[in-house]
Amino acid sequence: MRSPGRAGAAQGGVPLIRPPSIIASKDLEVTDKVPPPPERLAPHKWLGRGALKKYCRQERQGLELYLSKLAEERIRNHALSKKEERLEVMGFLLGTVHRFRNVTYTIVKDVATTSLEATSVSVRFERGGLEDLFCALDTTDFNYVLVGWYHSHPGHGCFLSETDVNTQLRMFDRPWHSAMVIDPVQMDIAAFAMKDGKAVERPFAIYWDEFQNPYYGETVRNRRVRSDPDGMAAPQ
Ligand SMILES: [Zn+2]
Repeated sequence: MRSPGRAGAAQGGVPLIRPPSIIASKDLEVTDKVPPPPERLAPHKWLGRGALKKYCRQERQGLELYLSKLAEERIRNHALSKKEERLEVMGFLLGTVHRFRNVTYTIVKDVATTSLEATSVSVRFERGGLEDLFCALDTTDFNYVLVGWYHSHPGHGCFLSETDVNTQLRMFDRPWHSAMVIDPVQMDIAAFAMKDGKAVERPFAIYWDEFQNPYYGETVRNRRVRSDPDGMAAPQ
């Protein structure tokens, strides 16, 4: 069901809330924008040493994928909620696509999901579940594109199976599309993208907004005042 009044007329000076609109990939206009600054970024707390190394390397070259703290929490909690039953979960990544210094990057702001038919090794949307999904999309408050999907591999580790690769090629074939895989049992997470027809890992950062609590994982990041007007600290 649609939440009442969201798209209604402004009343008593309350600003009108514009409902989100689905922007088809073909209409996507990649805009120039400075990515979230380093003091509002962290690698995912489940990354192992090897994945952290890849993250650091990619951070120097320019990350191609940023996941909001909110989206990360939703994906993790979704996967953890079916951990005991060893069931897979799945959903869509919603966000925006930008460019900075010749690097095209995606910002995942939120996720959306619906009723699923799941086993420990497969997952698909239930019949009629798509209607629920569109309602879930309706409650997000920004214009978004589907920038990819996520699903879980409870206890199997993070990789793209042949079926996953086919899904990616069929539904998410743009260079900025990502597939996130999360294993809530082994506490592992990774993102992938198709490059030259092959699935490759795409290191990603968790980001938070300027006035959000900087707590993420086990540490509290200090807020720093940057002097570079460009908004991007030099790589260290
Ligand atoms: Zn899979």
